[in-house]
Amino acid sequence: MSPFAGMPARLSRYSYLVSLMPEQLMADLELDVTLVSRTTASYTPYTRDGRSGGLLVERPEGEPTRESFAALTGSDREYGARREFYADMTDLAHAVAPTLMSPLPLERELREAVDPGIWRDVVTRPPGQTIEERFLDDTVRGVVATDALIGTFASMHDPSLVQNRCFLYHLIGNGTGEWRVPVGGMGAVTDALARAATRCGRRDRHRGRRQPDRGGSDSATVVWHDGSSEQSLTCRRVLSGVAPWVLRILLGEGEDDATKPEGAQLKINFLLDRLPSLRSGADPAVAFAGTLHLGEDYTQLEAAYTEASAGQVPTTMPGEVYCHSLSDPSILGPLAEQGAHTLTYFGLHTPASLFEGQGGAAAKDLAVERGSPRSTSTRVGSIRDCIATDADGNPCIEAKVPQGHRTRPGDAGRAHLPRRPRLAVGAQPGPPRHPGAAMGRRDRP
Ligand SMILES: Cc1cc2nc3c(=O)[nH]c(=O)nc-3n(C[C@H](O)[C@H](O)[C@H](O)COP(=O)(O)OP(=O)(O)OC[C@H]3O[C@@H](n4cnc5c(N)ncnc54)[C@H](O)[C@@H]3O)c2cc1C
Repeated sequence: MSPFAGMPARLSRYSYLVSLMPEQLMADLELDVTLVSRTTASYTPYTRDGRSGGLLVERPEGEPTRESFAALTGSDREYGARREFYADMTDLAHAVAPTLMSPLPLERELREAVDPGIWRDVVTRPPGQTIEERFLDDTVRGVVATDALIGTFASMHDPSLVQNRCFLYHLIGNGTGEWRVPVGGMGAVTDALARAATRCGRRDRHRGRRQPDRGGSDSATVVWHDGSSEQSLTCRRVLSGVAPWVLRILLGEGEDDATKPEGAQLKINFLLDRLPSLRSGADPAVAFAGTLHLGEDYTQLEAAYTEASAGQVPTTMPGEVYCHSLSDPSILGPLAEQGAHTLTYFGLHTPASLFEGQGGAAAKDLAVERGSPRSTSTRVGSIRDCIATDADGNPCIEAKVPQGHRTRPGDAGRAHLPRRPRLAVGAQPGPPRHPGAAMGRRDRP
């Protein structure tokens, strides 16, 4: 769906890349979805000693990738360290990815399937320690680190190791960790899933919140309101697709604000007349075809986390930009012929709490300004100078703070949770049996 009046671009406004859906599952469900590889994995514009450059990681990696690391760091050391690190990650991915399609293994079983050093580096200690040991360059460190932070508000040294789980999610998909672009946008994936479910005999009972209720010892009742009256269904098993925090409420544990997860992502979607230029002189069609990192040097990531934790919008906003329409021009419809492009910005370390209360709107404006500066920035030409105008004469820019991700019209998310759910059903959900159990590489969203 296009957020811009009269502009028929099918922009994936929230999630946009696919990696964690196992190919075996897609084949089993006969999903009619085409996923295309991006020709650029990532591009990181930088300025060093007054010189503008860009760290390029191609897909597949060739000589320009090696040269790019050498131009930034002055030797092949970081390039070699990176190759070693991701070879290790591939070993881990080969062990973990198949578990997404099998009964949950024990932690011990998974640990025994991988090298103990990899297990330590990625699973049991903070990735900050591993990255600082294995890499020397601040920009290279940052590019590696972002996989642990996209979707997680944490320091790279957070003792909770929530960032490890995020890291693994980004590196294991289908044993390669590649993130591919769904042709037609993310809606093409959900449409295909809906068609598969219908073929399998799905009957929709949506529009309304559900509450599991206690049935007999071998049954459960789900109660929901369809807008006009209460409905219920008794069945042997209830499968839930809600977040663990929500499920606990539905099972009658009460609403615990202290453990409520808080989103921390700023999303800015653009429709552009043309792609912005780069100070490095790189071809924008190469640089924007993968994940373009902005303000994501390792020290910048940690500084942004510290500032956001103290209630401040980060001075240098860490974020990533990606142009879907370079991989899939079909989403532009007739706009493709006019040279238009979509662009999506994914900002890190912007917890929802920054945007609450009286100063919330001003904080959002500041975050959007820092994420997509009006003035020409030092590394990428001004994105704002390239923004198209919609049918009503407004600039095609849409910004969503975390609160906005869950309050679209029609959502039945946690903003609409039932205050006092009924009774619990069967067994309570327990923690995953190993850190990778509930978890999901490189150059992703
Ligand atoms: C900005 C952003 C970008 C992202 N980009 C990507 C990406 O490119 N690729 C990717 O793979 N992942 C991405 N993710 C992560 C991805 O969106 C989530 O991992 C995924 O949506 C989780 O799916 P889910 O079905 O587990 O939960 P959800 O998508 O949260 O679904 C839970 C559903 O349950 C409903 N619900 C809640 N309570 C009730 C109730 N009482 N009764 C009935 N229904 C209820 C909710 O309304 C919701 O529809 C992104 C996330 C964000 C925030």
